[in-house]
Amino acid sequence: MARPHIVIIGAGFGGLSAALRLAGADADVTVIDRRNYHLFQPLLYQVATAGLSPAQIASPIRAILRRAANVRVVLGKVNGIDKQRRIVMVEDSEVAYDQLVVATGARHSYFGHDDWEGVAPGLKKIDDVTGIRRRILTAFEQAEHTTDAQARRRFLTFVVIGGGPTGVEMAGAIAELAHVALRHDFRAINPGDARIVLVESGSRVLSAFPPMLSEAARGSLERLQVEVRVGRPVTRCDAMGVTIGEEPLEAATIVWAAGVMASAAAQWLDVEKDRVGRVMVGPDLTVPSHPEIFVIGDTAHVFGADGRPLPGLAPVAKQQGAYVAQVLRARLGGRAVPAPFRYRNWGTMATIGRRAAVADFGWLRLDGTLAWLLWGLIHVSLLIGFRNRLVVILDWLWSYITFQSGARLITGPGSH
Ligand SMILES: Cc1cc2nc3c(=O)[nH]c(=O)nc-3n(C[C@H](O)[C@H](O)[C@H](O)COP(=O)(O)OP(=O)(O)OC[C@H]3O[C@@H](n4cnc5c(N)ncnc54)[C@H](O)[C@@H]3O)c2cc1C
Repeated sequence: MARPHIVIIGAGFGGLSAALRLAGADADVTVIDRRNYHLFQPLLYQVATAGLSPAQIASPIRAILRRAANVRVVLGKVNGIDKQRRIVMVEDSEVAYDQLVVATGARHSYFGHDDWEGVAPGLKKIDDVTGIRRRILTAFEQAEHTTDAQARRRFLTFVVIGGGPTGVEMAGAIAELAHVALRHDFRAINPGDARIVLVESGSRVLSAFPPMLSEAARGSLERLQVEVRVGRPVTRCDAMGVTIGEEPLEAATIVWAAGVMASAAAQWLDVEKDRVGRVMVGPDLTVPSHPEIFVIGDTAHVFGADGRPLPGLAPVAKQQGAYVAQVLRARLGGRAVPAPFRYRNWGTMATIGRRAAVADFGWLRLDGTLAWLLWGLIHVSLLIGFRNRLVVILDWLWSYITFQSGARLITGPGSH
């Protein structure tokens, strides 16, 4: 008799966590992803600000799953699911499943201003961040070249929209690039004159953190000479710059870090979704009336112990992937399935430049250098499948401390 076929869509934090734990199970497993690599999204901002190179934050899926003999990898873009026939549509082919895990993550949302995407790219894919890196580095080049003072000011103004962890990290990293990494590289301009503006429509940055940590983050940003503008939204965004509330601000580089939307999984499955498109799943992470379909990670709406939906974080996706593998293994072995999923929160953190971070462990709140060291340790613990964590850590540390100039490359379309 054929072994059951488990299909996992998405080799992000959730999908890979499930696949790795299904290695050696009595089932055939197929992992489908539109990319051939797993991306460590928490460090995308470092590629965008020329601190790291793309290869330092991505790892081939086949290499990660090399030792899992029962796991097959398919490179392809999923564009639909037929629940009745138990089929996944991958470009122009079909893959049949007995059990399905959907872990397709999230994408940007411009809150109805999709036309802003061209001028204010977000951070999600390698191509996004190498594009942002190109814009930032080109802006310094153009500022160096122009003799028009107003144009120079525009080239040296960088706006980051959204004061969540990604926006805070991005603004801090642009400030360090300008004030430290590029310090000696130009002749006509002083890169340190760059104006970095972080715009948050709410009343404080890092609103998911306790107010004292928001204040600490704001202080750290201001020490890096980032202007923090809270309380007014961006109302216009185009090639000349932005308008914050009523106030226009000329800027050549705008980065979007303000919102995400779940992948299209709810449409594929034709099931109930929340405001940001996440599939409403049950406590065992399955779709109502379909115990054979699990949805996890950024694509799933799951309630936490406090009755609020769990945040879109890597540890949430990883724990859900591990849980689903446990359920599937229990089903395969005819054993009782585990109790409903429960998220273990080991804390949330955000970093501001190379020396400061904020960390909220519930029982302990930290900011400054100690929080930064913890941030580094926790990020390394999140690494999935990078062959040798020690090599990766040393590689990152070296690049991080030296502001390696090798990553400061202007590449891609329009870079001549
Ligand atoms: C810039 C940024 C910074 C972040 N920083 C942090 C942080 O510091 N700490 C933290 O905990 N979390 C952070 N996160 C969030 C974290 O990365 C996500 O919560 C996590 O990646 C979710 O895991 P996932 O498995 O649900 O989705 P993902 O990891 O996004 O994986 C989804 C996978 O599905 C694939 N896929 C999508 N659609 C299709 C399709 N149609 N066909 C085939 N394959 C498809 C994708 O290629 C991808 O490989 C950050 C996210 C971003 C964007």
